[in-house]
Order: sequence, then C-alpha cells, then structure tokens
Amino acid sequence: MTNTTKATLSLLALAGVSPYKEKKGEEYMNENQIAHFRKILEAWHTQIVDEASRTVSHMQDEAANFPDPADRATQEEEFSLELRARDRERKLMKKIESTLKKLDTEDFGYCDSCGVEIGIRRLEARPTADLCIDCKTLAEVREKQMGF
Ligand SMILES: [Zn+2]
Repeated sequence: MTNTTKATLSLLALAGVSPYKEKKGEEYMNENQIAHFRKILEAWHTQIVDEASRTVSHMQDEAANFPDPADRATQEEEFSLELRARDRERKLMKKIESTLKKLDTEDFGYCDSCGVEIGIRRLEARPTADLCIDCKTLAEVREKQMGF
C-alpha cells in the first residue's frame, strides 16, 4: 500500500488540496466532491503537459551529432526510452482528459463494471480509476491468467 499512499500524497499535494473530508450524511459525488476531483485531475493534467514539453526540448537540446557510433547508440537508446515514456504520458493524458469529461456526467466515481461507488480514498489515489477495487482485482487476476 506504500505506493498508493505516496501517489495519493503527491497528487493531492500537486493540486494543493487536502484529502477530502466528508460531512456526515453527505451525498456521494456531490458538487464539492466533483470540484475536488476536478482540481486534482486538472493539476495532474498540467503536470503531464509540462513533463511532455520538457521531454521534447530535452531531446532537441541533446540531438547533437556524436561522431562516435557508441555514443550515438547510447543516445538512440536514451531517446527510445524517452519516446516510450512520452507514449505513456500521452495515454495517461488521454485518460485524464476523458475522466475530466466524465466528471460532467453522473458516471464519475462509479464502477464501470458493477456500478458500485469506487470511493473517495481510492479515487484520490487514482482519480482515473473506473473500476471498484473488487472488479479491478478480478480484472488483474484474469489478465494474469491470460498471460499463461
Ligand atoms: Zn465493480
């Protein structure tokens, strides 16, 4: 659980918000909660956009010609790693964008598979989660089984 906790802290810190405190009897995914998650998702999105543009300028800076083929190979390897990282960033960005759109519908915060509430704590750790923890675990088990 350490990773989840860390992710929660950094995403919340990034957005400059504290963990959401529900009032007693508060309705799930009311306006305040939606606003809370919009803030987190927007801050996260901004961070990814920044990271992506840093990667590009880094690659432009580094795109010097190395006369030594060994240096060139190292550089190409670095670039392919960065490109893969960018690919992941782009996918994450899309996911964040579609989640931001989902915030405008009544579907946000509910499991896509079984419809239960995903829960505020889980969403704070992973705002793009679209499955509850049970369905997610099940999906992961299935994925692993398919891998064999
Ligand atoms: Zn579910």
